[in-house]
Amino acid sequence: MPAVAIAGGGVAGIAAAAALAGAGFRIALVESRPYLGGRASSYPAPGGRGEIIDNCQHILLKCCVNLLDLYRRLGVDSQIEFHREFHYLEPGGRRSAFRAGLLPAPAHFAGSFAALRFLSAREKLEAARALLALLRERGRRADLDSITMRQWLEEKRQSPRVISRFWAPVLVSAVNEEVNRMAASHGFLVFHLAFLAAKDAYEMGVPRLPLGEMHSAARLASHTGVEVLLRRKVTGVRLEGRRVRALETELGPVEADAFISALPFEPLRGLLPDLLDDWSAFEHSPIAGIHLWFDRPVTDLPHAVLLDSPFQWFFNKREGRYLQLVVSASRFLEAWPRREVAARAVEDLGRYLPEARRARLERFHVVKEVRATFSAHPGLAARRPHPETRFENLFLAGDWTQTGWPSTMEGAARSGYRAAEAVCRFLGGPRTFLLPDIA
Ligand SMILES: Cc1cc2nc3c(=O)[nH]c(=O)nc-3n(C[C@H](O)[C@H](O)[C@H](O)COP(=O)(O)OP(=O)(O)OC[C@H]3O[C@@H](n4cnc5c(N)ncnc54)[C@H](O)[C@@H]3O)c2cc1C
Repeated sequence: MPAVAIAGGGVAGIAAAAALAGAGFRIALVESRPYLGGRASSYPAPGGRGEIIDNCQHILLKCCVNLLDLYRRLGVDSQIEFHREFHYLEPGGRRSAFRAGLLPAPAHFAGSFAALRFLSAREKLEAARALLALLRERGRRADLDSITMRQWLEEKRQSPRVISRFWAPVLVSAVNEEVNRMAASHGFLVFHLAFLAAKDAYEMGVPRLPLGEMHSAARLASHTGVEVLLRRKVTGVRLEGRRVRALETELGPVEADAFISALPFEPLRGLLPDLLDDWSAFEHSPIAGIHLWFDRPVTDLPHAVLLDSPFQWFFNKREGRYLQLVVSASRFLEAWPRREVAARAVEDLGRYLPEARRARLERFHVVKEVRATFSAHPGLAARRPHPETRFENLFLAGDWTQTGWPSTMEGAARSGYRAAEAVCRFLGGPRTFLLPDIA
């Protein structure tokens, strides 16, 4: 069978490798780090006596059908715990929950929406009007990639409070961009797929295993037969006319019949600057993960949105004593020293969880991922490349390529499957790996 070499062992590279290995190709997956998973990986907690933590909480939704398909291929689909409730906390601790009821989609949230305590009746009507407009306008408006979500929400007369309490908590975390910077097309995709299209699509999946185990090299090799080459940084690409001959690495070349780059855009730009005419549309958006270990349980909730807080969400990682706060589009935190980030987070948490005020913080760990995701700003969609390149046997994957999705593990899995399909077409045996969206 032909050989395929894949550069980059994040979710995109793993997805491409698993799909092509399943179709019988010989695969070499070339990764610079000593482990796979890329941005979705784990490491020992500093000062944590060997405790393994994820670089940041990663969640998925049931509408992430390609990522779930990849997890089936890797034998870890049963390791996702799905949550049917989104919890919301107001300052002072008042709780609301969002869950599907008995009505069919798109009316399945009607009951819990009506019961939300953090919006007034007038604000609920206001939000419901915009949800109906979203259903009406999806697929009909041509300008959704050239305006921001905030522009669209303001056009629909959404007040700042409804934007910040209803729309932003979901959108900012799903797209990792502020509502006034993200393209409206992404807002539409998230709300349509997750909350309107199907009854269970919104269910939030949290991996039971550390990400490093979900995406481990040993698991990929044993389930699919892929040859994983760790600690092999790709330093160059050997070209011959319109063909790639080999990936150059410090330990020698890796030759193959076809190649996939599953690298993020910056290292790929360094290796092949002329691959795209213009890279300037690709910018980053940061995420911060704030790990807090308390001396006692401070919550009984599995996770919650912190309404009106810059710290956005918490996840209960263990017994209510180890919490992880996730701050998306976290530009405002960049200048703060890590100790100050943790101190402010604990202080803020106390507004929602009274027990956090009484508890002693035993240790903390703050991760600032400046290059967490691409910024899904207006105008980007047309610039995201398809798998095919100007080199006939080189194909592109990576969350930043043309997937229609924001920068997510689902986007990465989709890109890997699309690149694998392009390889199969090139090698003369078309195959389908990509699963269609739920609606
Ligand atoms: C803090 C944080 C929180 C996030 N939260 C979520 C979430 O909750 N849900 C969600 O779905 N997504 C989340 N994401 C986004 C998600 O992690 C990414 O979209 C996805 O993992 C990207 O996968 P990828 O394979 O495209 O890229 P990457 O994961 O970046 O993989 C690229 C790989 O290429 C390797 N590489 C780079 N250069 C070279 C080279 N020269 N030679 C060989 N290898 C090289 C890298 O080491 C890396 O392993 C989060 C991201 C971050 C950073």
